[in-house]
Amino acid sequence: MTRFTVAIDGPAAAGKGTISKAVAAHFGFAHLDTGLLYRAVGAKTLAGADPIAAARSLTPADMQGNLRTPDVAQAASKVAVIAEVRAALVDFQRNFAARDGGAVLDGRDIGTVICPDADVKLFVTASAEVRAERRFLELSAKDHEVSRGQVLADVIARDKRDSEREEAPLKPAVDAVIIDTSDLSIEDAVAQAIARINAAR
Ligand code: C5P
Repeated sequence: MTRFTVAIDGPAAAGKGTISKAVAAHFGFAHLDTGLLYRAVGAKTLAGADPIAAARSLTPADMQGNLRTPDVAQAASKVAVIAEVRAALVDFQRNFAARDGGAVLDGRDIGTVICPDADVKLFVTASAEVRAERRFLELSAKDHEVSRGQVLADVIARDKRDSEREEAPLKPAVDAVIIDTSDLSIEDAVAQAIARINAAR
Protein backbone atom coordinates (compact mmCIF):
# COMPACT_ATOMS: atom_id res chain seq x y z
CA MET A 1 0.00 0.00 0.00
CA THR A 2 1.22 3.48 -0.66
CA ARG A 3 -0.63 6.54 0.55
CA PHE A 4 -3.72 6.35 2.71
CA THR A 5 -4.77 9.27 4.86
CA VAL A 6 -7.17 9.19 7.79
CA ALA A 7 -8.31 12.59 9.09
CA ILE A 8 -9.71 12.65 12.62
CA ASP A 9 -11.08 15.95 13.86
CA GLY A 10 -13.15 17.02 16.82
CA PRO A 11 -13.32 19.20 19.93
CA ALA A 12 -11.08 18.97 22.99
CA ALA A 13 -11.02 15.68 24.91
CA ALA A 14 -13.51 13.89 22.65
CA GLY A 15 -11.28 10.84 22.33
CA LYS A 16 -9.49 11.71 19.08
CA GLY A 17 -6.06 10.92 20.49
CA THR A 18 -7.06 7.54 21.87
CA ILE A 19 -8.86 6.55 18.68
CA SER A 20 -6.05 7.83 16.46
CA LYS A 21 -3.38 5.88 18.33
CA ALA A 22 -5.46 2.69 18.27
CA VAL A 23 -6.25 3.05 14.57
CA ALA A 24 -2.60 3.74 13.73
CA ALA A 25 -1.49 0.67 15.69
CA HIS A 26 -4.20 -1.51 14.11
CA PHE A 27 -3.34 -0.61 10.50
CA GLY A 28 0.37 0.12 10.96
CA PHE A 29 -0.10 3.77 9.97
CA ALA A 30 2.02 6.65 11.24
CA HIS A 31 0.21 9.04 13.61
CA LEU A 32 0.54 12.80 13.97
CA ASP A 33 -1.21 14.60 16.83
CA THR A 34 -1.39 18.03 15.18
CA GLY A 35 -2.53 19.62 18.45
CA LEU A 36 1.04 19.17 19.64
CA LEU A 37 2.26 21.60 16.97
CA TYR A 38 -0.07 24.30 18.29
CA ARG A 39 0.74 23.40 21.88
CA ALA A 40 4.47 23.74 21.14
CA VAL A 41 3.90 27.19 19.63
CA GLY A 42 1.66 28.10 22.59
CA ALA A 43 4.31 27.00 25.08
CA LYS A 44 6.97 29.08 23.33
CA THR A 45 4.65 32.07 23.39
CA LEU A 46 4.10 31.63 27.14
CA ALA A 47 7.91 31.73 27.44
CA GLY A 48 7.95 35.08 25.64
CA ALA A 49 8.39 34.15 21.98
CA ASP A 50 6.54 35.75 19.09
CA PRO A 51 3.95 33.14 17.92
CA ILE A 52 4.57 33.55 14.19
CA ALA A 53 8.35 33.34 14.56
CA ALA A 54 7.89 30.33 16.85
CA ALA A 55 5.67 28.52 14.32
CA ARG A 56 8.11 29.22 11.50
CA SER A 57 11.08 27.84 13.42
CA LEU A 58 9.42 24.87 15.12
CA THR A 59 11.59 21.75 15.46
CA PRO A 60 10.77 18.22 16.63
CA ALA A 61 12.55 19.00 19.91
CA ASP A 62 9.91 21.64 20.62
CA MET A 63 7.28 18.90 20.68
CA GLN A 64 8.95 17.17 23.60
CA GLY A 65 8.30 18.10 27.20
CA ASN A 66 5.11 18.62 29.10
CA LEU A 67 2.72 20.25 26.69
CA ARG A 68 -0.44 18.66 28.10
CA THR A 69 -1.22 21.28 30.72
CA PRO A 70 -4.30 23.52 30.91
CA ASP A 71 -2.20 26.68 30.44
CA VAL A 72 -0.53 25.36 27.32
CA ALA A 73 -3.90 24.17 25.93
CA GLN A 74 -5.37 27.67 26.25
CA ALA A 75 -2.21 29.27 24.82
CA ALA A 76 -2.38 26.81 21.89
CA SER A 77 -5.94 27.78 21.04
CA LYS A 78 -4.98 31.48 21.19
CA VAL A 79 -2.06 31.13 18.76
CA ALA A 80 -4.20 28.84 16.57
CA VAL A 81 -6.39 31.79 15.51
CA ILE A 82 -3.40 33.48 13.81
CA ALA A 83 -3.41 32.83 10.05
CA GLU A 84 0.40 33.04 9.74
CA VAL A 85 0.85 30.50 12.53
CA ARG A 86 -1.49 28.03 10.78
CA ALA A 87 0.15 28.67 7.39
CA ALA A 88 3.60 27.92 8.81
CA LEU A 89 2.44 24.46 9.91
CA VAL A 90 0.64 23.35 6.74
CA ASP A 91 3.51 21.84 4.74
CA PHE A 92 4.76 19.71 7.61
CA GLN A 93 1.27 18.25 8.13
CA ARG A 94 0.64 17.63 4.40
CA ASN A 95 4.01 15.94 3.95
CA PHE A 96 3.28 13.74 6.93
CA ALA A 97 -0.14 12.83 5.47
CA ALA A 98 1.41 11.85 2.14
CA ARG A 99 3.97 9.44 3.54
CA ASP A 100 4.14 5.89 2.24
CA GLY A 101 2.40 3.30 4.37
CA GLY A 102 -0.52 5.41 5.54
CA ALA A 103 -1.02 8.19 8.06
CA VAL A 104 -3.54 9.23 10.68
CA LEU A 105 -3.66 12.92 11.57
CA ASP A 106 -5.84 14.22 14.34
CA GLY A 107 -6.74 17.83 14.98
CA ARG A 108 -9.41 20.41 14.19
CA ASP A 109 -9.03 21.16 10.48
CA ILE A 110 -7.51 18.01 9.00
CA GLY A 111 -10.53 16.94 6.94
CA THR A 112 -11.50 20.50 6.02
CA VAL A 113 -8.19 22.28 5.29
CA ILE A 114 -5.06 20.16 5.66
CA CYS A 115 -6.23 17.00 3.87
CA PRO A 116 -9.48 17.75 2.05
CA ASP A 117 -8.86 14.61 -0.07
CA ALA A 118 -8.29 12.27 2.89
CA ASP A 119 -9.44 8.71 2.25
CA VAL A 120 -11.41 8.62 5.50
CA LYS A 121 -12.66 11.55 7.56
CA LEU A 122 -13.96 11.05 11.05
CA PHE A 123 -15.34 13.72 13.36
CA VAL A 124 -15.13 12.50 16.93
CA THR A 125 -17.27 14.36 19.42
CA ALA A 126 -19.01 14.04 22.80
CA SER A 127 -21.01 16.31 25.08
CA ALA A 128 -19.02 19.07 26.80
CA GLU A 129 -19.78 17.52 30.21
CA VAL A 130 -18.48 14.09 29.22
CA ARG A 131 -15.37 15.59 27.66
CA ALA A 132 -14.67 17.79 30.69
CA GLU A 133 -15.05 14.82 33.03
CA ARG A 134 -12.56 12.80 31.00
CA ARG A 135 -10.08 15.67 30.92
CA PHE A 136 -10.57 16.24 34.66
CA LEU A 137 -9.73 12.60 35.42
CA GLU A 138 -6.73 12.74 33.08
CA LEU A 139 -5.34 15.92 34.66
CA SER A 140 -6.04 14.76 38.22
CA ALA A 141 -4.19 11.51 37.52
CA LYS A 142 -1.20 13.63 36.54
CA ASP A 143 -1.45 15.56 39.83
CA HIS A 144 -2.72 18.80 38.31
CA GLU A 145 -4.69 20.82 40.85
CA VAL A 146 -7.89 21.44 38.90
CA SER A 147 -11.59 21.51 39.70
CA ARG A 148 -14.32 19.94 37.58
CA GLY A 149 -15.92 23.36 37.09
CA GLN A 150 -12.67 24.92 35.93
CA VAL A 151 -11.97 22.12 33.46
CA LEU A 152 -15.51 22.39 32.02
CA ALA A 153 -15.12 26.18 31.66
CA ASP A 154 -11.74 25.70 29.93
CA VAL A 155 -13.12 23.10 27.53
CA ILE A 156 -16.09 25.33 26.63
CA ALA A 157 -13.85 28.39 26.16
CA ARG A 158 -11.47 26.47 23.91
CA ASP A 159 -14.31 24.96 21.84
CA LYS A 160 -15.80 28.41 21.38
CA ARG A 161 -12.50 29.96 20.27
CA ASP A 162 -11.75 27.00 17.97
CA SER A 163 -15.24 26.99 16.38
CA GLU A 164 -15.68 30.73 15.95
CA ARG A 165 -12.29 31.66 14.51
CA GLU A 166 -12.00 32.90 10.91
CA GLU A 167 -9.17 30.59 9.92
CA ALA A 168 -9.88 26.87 9.66
CA PRO A 169 -12.61 26.78 12.31
CA LEU A 170 -13.43 23.53 14.05
CA LYS A 171 -16.28 21.89 12.11
CA PRO A 172 -16.94 18.52 10.49
CA ALA A 173 -16.03 18.23 6.80
CA VAL A 174 -19.19 17.73 4.73
CA ASP A 175 -18.06 14.17 3.98
CA ALA A 176 -16.96 13.31 7.54
CA VAL A 177 -18.52 10.47 9.51
CA ILE A 178 -19.53 11.65 13.00
CA ILE A 179 -18.67 9.39 15.93
CA ASP A 180 -20.27 10.59 19.18
CA THR A 181 -18.36 8.95 22.02
CA SER A 182 -20.57 10.30 24.86
CA ASP A 183 -22.06 6.86 25.49
CA LEU A 184 -19.43 4.67 23.87
CA SER A 185 -16.67 2.65 25.50
CA ILE A 186 -13.18 3.20 24.11
CA GLU A 187 -13.34 -0.26 22.53
CA ASP A 188 -16.63 0.50 20.76
CA ALA A 189 -15.43 3.90 19.53
CA VAL A 190 -12.23 2.35 18.16
CA ALA A 191 -14.22 -0.49 16.55
CA GLN A 192 -16.45 2.04 14.77
CA ALA A 193 -13.42 3.93 13.47
CA ILE A 194 -11.74 0.72 12.25
CA ALA A 195 -14.94 -0.39 10.51
CA ARG A 196 -15.15 2.93 8.64
CA ILE A 197 -11.54 2.66 7.53
CA ASN A 198 -11.92 -0.95 6.42
CA ALA A 199 -14.94 0.06 4.35
CA ALA A 200 -12.83 2.67 2.53
CA ARG A 201 -9.77 0.52 1.77
O1 C5P B 1 -5.88 18.71 20.23
P1 C5P B 1 -5.32 19.62 21.30
O2 C5P B 1 -6.25 19.80 22.44
O3 C5P B 1 -3.95 19.21 21.74
O4 C5P B 1 -5.16 21.03 20.57
C1 C5P B 1 -4.77 22.19 21.26
C2 C5P B 1 -5.30 23.40 20.49
O5 C5P B 1 -4.60 23.52 19.24
C3 C5P B 1 -6.78 23.36 20.10
O6 C5P B 1 -7.64 23.86 21.11
C4 C5P B 1 -6.82 24.19 18.84
O7 C5P B 1 -6.97 25.57 19.14
C5 C5P B 1 -5.47 24.01 18.23
N1 C5P B 1 -5.47 23.10 17.08
C6 C5P B 1 -5.86 23.61 15.87
N2 C5P B 1 -5.81 22.83 14.74
C7 C5P B 1 -5.41 21.56 14.83
C8 C5P B 1 -5.04 21.00 16.08
C9 C5P B 1 -5.10 21.81 17.20
O8 C5P B 1 -6.25 24.76 15.77
N3 C5P B 1 -5.34 20.83 13.72
